[in-house]
Formats: sequence, structure tokens, C-alpha cells
Amino acid sequence: MGLRIDEATFLERAISRFGARYDYSLMIYKSFRTPIKIRCVEHPVREVVITPERHLQTTGGCKYCLRTYRNQTLERVLRMDCELSDLPAPQLPRAPQEPPVVGQKSKAV
Ligand SMILES: [Zn+2]
Repeated sequence: MGLRIDEATFLERAISRFGARYDYSLMIYKSFRTPIKIRCVEHPVREVVITPERHLQTTGGCKYCLRTYRNQTLERVLRMDCELSDLPAPQLPRAPQEPPVVGQKSKAV
């Protein structure tokens, strides 16, 4: 479909996006849509298998980086939320669902 990104172009884009965060030495590049194996430099315990396309569209494919990224984003959101509403921030990013506070009915009368 006119979308032809060769290995050199892909690497150029990936490096401009992620810098030295991913190691591409394991990569066998076939096409933009063929999954490649790469490695996160910070979390090399696990290889990342992802298509070049997805790699450029996401945080890169490393689950650990994604988690860090999400936590940072969430903390920022919570902090902003806290400043705006002037309420204490929740302790956990993902609080379990609390039961709604049921209005107390007085039995007296
Ligand atoms: Zn990572």
C-alpha cells in the first residue's frame, strides 16, 4: 500500500523515538509488519517480540517500561486531580471497588 519502510528507515525512526532504550542487534528485519525480536536495555530479562509498526506506535513493546510509564502518568493525573479538588490522594493507583456509601436511615420516630 505504498508503505515501505526498510530496515534503515525503521532504525532511524526507532532511535529518534527511543534513543538507546532498545537493543536492535537481535532483530531480523523482514518488513514493517513482520514481528521482530528486540531487547529493552533496561529490562533485558525478556525479549520483546513486536512488529516494527507497533514498536513505533507504542512505548516500544517492553511491558516493564509500559508499566513504569503508566504509573508515572497515573501519578501525575492523581496529583493534578488532588491539587484541583483539594482532596487527599488515594493511596493506591488502582483502588479496589468500594461499596457505595448507603445513606443512613434513622429507625427512630
Ligand atoms: Zn523496559
